[in-house]
Amino acid sequence: MTFPGSVDVAVIGAGAAGLGAAGRLKGSAASFVVLEARGRVGGRGHTVTIDGHPLDLGCGWLHSARQNSWAGVAQSLGLKIDSSPPAWARPALNFPPEEQRAYRKAFGAFEDRLDAAAHGPDRPASDLFAPEDARWRPLLDVFSGIYNGASFEEISVKDYAAYQPTEDNWRVVIGYGALMTAFAADLPVILDCPVTLLDRRNSNLRLLTAKGVLQARSAIVCVPTSVLAEEGLRIDPPLPDKIDAAGALPLGNVDKVFLHLEGAGQFDPDTRVLARTDTTDTGGYTLRPMGMPVVEAYFGGRVAARLEQEGPGAFGAFARQELVEVFGSEFGRRLRPLVESRWSADPFSRGAYSHARPGFSDRRAVLSAPVENRLFFAGEACSPHAFSTAHGAYDTGVAAAEAALEAVGEPVRMARRP
Ligand SMILES: Cc1cc2nc3c(=O)[nH]c(=O)nc-3n(C[C@H](O)[C@H](O)[C@H](O)COP(=O)(O)OP(=O)(O)OC[C@H]3O[C@@H](n4cnc5c(N)ncnc54)[C@H](O)[C@@H]3O)c2cc1C
Repeated sequence: MTFPGSVDVAVIGAGAAGLGAAGRLKGSAASFVVLEARGRVGGRGHTVTIDGHPLDLGCGWLHSARQNSWAGVAQSLGLKIDSSPPAWARPALNFPPEEQRAYRKAFGAFEDRLDAAAHGPDRPASDLFAPEDARWRPLLDVFSGIYNGASFEEISVKDYAAYQPTEDNWRVVIGYGALMTAFAADLPVILDCPVTLLDRRNSNLRLLTAKGVLQARSAIVCVPTSVLAEEGLRIDPPLPDKIDAAGALPLGNVDKVFLHLEGAGQFDPDTRVLARTDTTDTGGYTLRPMGMPVVEAYFGGRVAARLEQEGPGAFGAFARQELVEVFGSEFGRRLRPLVESRWSADPFSRGAYSHARPGFSDRRAVLSAPVENRLFFAGEACSPHAFSTAHGAYDTGVAAAEAALEAVGEPVRMARRP
C-alpha cells in the first residue's frame, strides 16, 4: 500500500499486538495504518518453511488455548489445529521415571511456595528454593531459562505468580507465524518502515519513518520493551516513566534451532529428551514435533545468551554434541542443522520475551497506561496475566485499539483511508 500523509490511528509494529490492534480498527470508521520495521509481519511470531515443514522460530504454542484469541483466529480462518499434548507434558525419554516424579514433586512444592510468597514483599524467585532442591537446581533454572528467558534469581516472585496459564496447549499446523501472516493479509501494513521518532510536541503526532513523515491523531506503540528502553524508537518529549518501566521488564534470552533427523520414524511424535540434568548449560529437545522429521532444540537464559554470542551455527553444533552424548556418534551423522533463531541479536526484538525484575512487577501497569489520551501502549509486556505470550500481546492490541477509537471519537478524517 502507499504511504499515507495522515491517519486517525497509527499502529507501530506488526507483531501479535499490532495485528490485534489493526484487526480491531479494521471494523471501525477510523483511518489507520500499521508501520512495520521488518520486511515481514509477525514480529516474534515467525514461521520458516523448509522441505515443506513449517518451523516456528518464535512462538509455536497456542498457550491457554481455550481462551486464546489466536486459536479463535485460526478457527475462523479454517486452519487446522493440533491439540495433542505438548512434549513437556510427556515423560522424557532418557530420564528415569522415579527421578521425573521426584523432580515434578520438587517443582510443585517450589511453585506453591512462590504463590504463597507473592502475597508478601517482592523478591527474587530463587529466594524460595529450599535446601532439599539442591539436586534439582540446575533443572529448575533450565526450566526458568526457557519459561522466563532468565534464571529464577532474575525473576520477580509477584510477576511469576501473576502469569495465569491454563493446561491447554495447542498448535496451528501451518505454524504460529504463518497464522499471523494469514491474518494480516488484508490489513494495511507498510513493511520495511521503521519508526525512528514519535514527536508529540504538537496537537497532531508526527512519526518519522524510513518512508516519510506520518501525521496521526493517536498512536498505538506495539514495539518490544527492549526497543523502548534502548530508545530504538525515540519519543519526544521523552517519557521517562515508560523508559524506566520498559527497562524493568527486559526481554530474556530464548532461542531455537531445528535440525533435520534422518530416520526420524524410529521415534514417536513429540518425544522429549533432556540431555543433562546436572547443569544449566544444556538445551531441551523435542524429536519429531507434530510428526515432522526434525529435532527442535530450545535454549533459554544464559546458555542461549552464550550461544548467540558465539555466532551463527553455534546452536546447531551444541545441539548435535548434546544429542551425540545421549544417543551416540552415529546419531550425530543423522542430523543436519536447518535454521536457528538469534532473537537477542535482532535489532527489532533484542530478546525473546519479558519478565519483571525483582521489585518491579508493578511496571507492567505503568508501561500500558495511556499518555495524554492519544498515545497507547500494547505488546506482550503490557499484559497483566498473559505476558510473554502471543495471545496476551494480541489482547493488549485489541484493548489499545478500543481505547484509541474512543479517544478519536467520531473520527474527523484527516486524509483518505489507507
Ligand atoms: C523462541 C520463542 C518462543 C516463543 N514461544 C511462544 C509460544 O510457544 N507461545 C506464545 O504464546 N508465545 C511464545 N513466544 C512469545 C511470543 O512470540 C511473543 O510474546 C509475542 O509474539 C510478542 O508479540 P508483540 O506484538 O508484543 O511483539 P513483537 O512480536 O516483537 O512485535 C513488535 C513488532 O514491532 C516491530 N518494530 C520494532 N521496532 C520498530 C520500530 N522502531 N518501528 C516499527 N516497527 C518496529 C518489530 O519488527 C515487530 O514486528 C515465544 C517467543 C520466542 C522468542
